[in-house]
Amino acid sequence: MSTFHTVEVTCAACQEPFEARLLDSLNADRHPAGRQELLDRTLHRHTCPHCGVHNVFDKPMLYTDLGQGLFVQSLPEVERLRFAALEHEIVQVHQGVFSSPNSPPFVREIGQAAPPRLVFGYEELREKIVAAEHDLDDRLIEILKLQLIMGWPDLLAAGLRVILLDGVSLLDGVISLDGVLPERGIEFVLLYADDDRADGLPVPTPDGAPRRLAAPMHLYDALAEQRPALRATYGQLFTGAWVNALRYKFNPDDLHP
Ligand SMILES: [Zn+2]
Repeated sequence: MSTFHTVEVTCAACQEPFEARLLDSLNADRHPAGRQELLDRTLHRHTCPHCGVHNVFDKPMLYTDLGQGLFVQSLPEVERLRFAALEHEIVQVHQGVFSSPNSPPFVREIGQAAPPRLVFGYEELREKIVAAEHDLDDRLIEILKLQLIMGWPDLLAAGLRVILLDGVSLLDGVISLDGVLPERGIEFVLLYADDDRADGLPVPTPDGAPRRLAAPMHLYDALAEQRPALRATYGQLFTGAWVNALRYKFNPDDLHP
């Protein structure tokens, strides 16, 4: 089930209280509108009735969509540095739901098809939903991001901070990296160092740096064929619950053992 609470929140801008409806958990099967709000980037965003500023309430929320193989604990972005301890917790929660000593086999199978995932912030959660919708392995998506970064060092020089999976679409008219026009591509949004402005105003793009990047689907397909080798190289993405390229920002040595 999905659990809603109407709670008193405080506006980040004017510090005045107001009431907002927030979710502790979201079951996409029973509350598809909540899933759509995540995709539309409107979930837990409320305009302050006092000053009109748009607030985002990045609170803990368990997101489940077992039909899509998703069991995802979303935590506030400020918790990211504690990922190692937190992913242990979500694995324990998942085991308690699906793998207790009395769990019937069909429950265990559901759990295996929906492995535990940890995300920080609703953009990371949105990525999991998009990947599942398009039958993409989230681990390979994160490896694809790392390869894009390594193959395009100018992005880091421009202050690239995060690459986010945005969607999968027809790339009619898009120029691909290797000159071959693909039929489908994976679209990413790029965020740079200055993108978290408190006033929410658009930030100018660093000179020459792209805001969006489309990777042809064949790059993903090539990764899918190398899965065993990739598992050895990017072990953390295959064993941890926080499946995100940012892990290597905190443990960069692990990329080059
Ligand atoms: Zn306000």
